Amino acid sequence: MPQIQQLPAHIADLIAAGEVVERPASVCKELLENALDAGASAVSVELEHGGMTYLRVTDNGCGIAPEQLPTAFLRHATSKLRRAEDLAAIGTLGFRGEALAAIAAVSRLDIFSRVRGADSGASLHLEGGVPGEVTAAGCPEGTTICVRDLFYNTPARRKFLKTDRAEGAACAAAALRCALGRPDVSVRCIRDGEEVFFSPGDNKLDSCVYSLLGRELAKTLLPCEGEVDGVRVHGFISSPSAGRGSRAQQHFFCNGRWIRSAALQAALEQAYRNTLLVGRFPACVLYV
Ligand code: ADP
Ligand code: MG
Repeated sequence: MPQIQQLPAHIADLIAAGEVVERPASVCKELLENALDAGASAVSVELEHGGMTYLRVTDNGCGIAPEQLPTAFLRHATSKLRRAEDLAAIGTLGFRGEALAAIAAVSRLDIFSRVRGADSGASLHLEGGVPGEVTAAGCPEGTTICVRDLFYNTPARRKFLKTDRAEGAACAAAALRCALGRPDVSVRCIRDGEEVFFSPGDNKLDSCVYSLLGRELAKTLLPCEGEVDGVRVHGFISSPSAGRGSRAQQHFFCNGRWIRSAALQAALEQAYRNTLLVGRFPACVLYV
């Protein structure tokens, strides 16, 4: 008869981490969402080797107090949810309190943070989720998290990663979605020392789309707006003469969050029926 045993905490943590962090792009998305939740107006993402050896996100948000730094890395530790009732009215991108714990469990991580208005900040290093000492650090207001050697302690996960190129592209795509969703926040993405994109954060949708999707695509986009039964949709759709070879440039957002939606995709493409050739697809940036 097989013996049933409860897994030791560190193995349970590694398994849980694998559910949140599948690849560097998940780290990129989670750290960016935290920066946005922290009220940042400017965020930068830098990555090397597809984000596998180095991924750093810097924000000018509210910061974390020195004594709270270790707490932020505990599983189910969050400042965004207090009571069960709060689950019905989530206003932030995160709320489960799992991302930092999961990312730290499978990497070597450094965090530097200074609360807005505080005299100084602090830093903390974690190795495979195990925290060192909190030390005073001179750093700008806001938070910087630097993730190195992702999956160094989970070789099975590392084996499933694709090339630098593919992982880096997925990171940049994740960052782009966050940036497109928040025209009021300036986002810079630097990959292997080269700027991939920079959005001005001036809260103008057209300059945001122009800077993120490029001039060629932006030229073909037309503004649109509508409201039915209290559901408002606004944004840009491509002109019928500018069909694209794939759906890669269909971006849908619901309440500021990038979503994949077969229903919205079908609704969009129905509107173009008989105006686009078979195998050509409209582009859009639509906010619901
Ligand atoms: P969640 O976002 O679901 O709350 P996380 O594990 O992503 O969980 O983060 C845990 C907590 O750490 C957050 O609730 C927040 O209080 C704090 N935190 C994380 N990142 C930042 C950041 N960039 N700036 C300020 N606080 C942060
Ligand atoms: Mg989070």
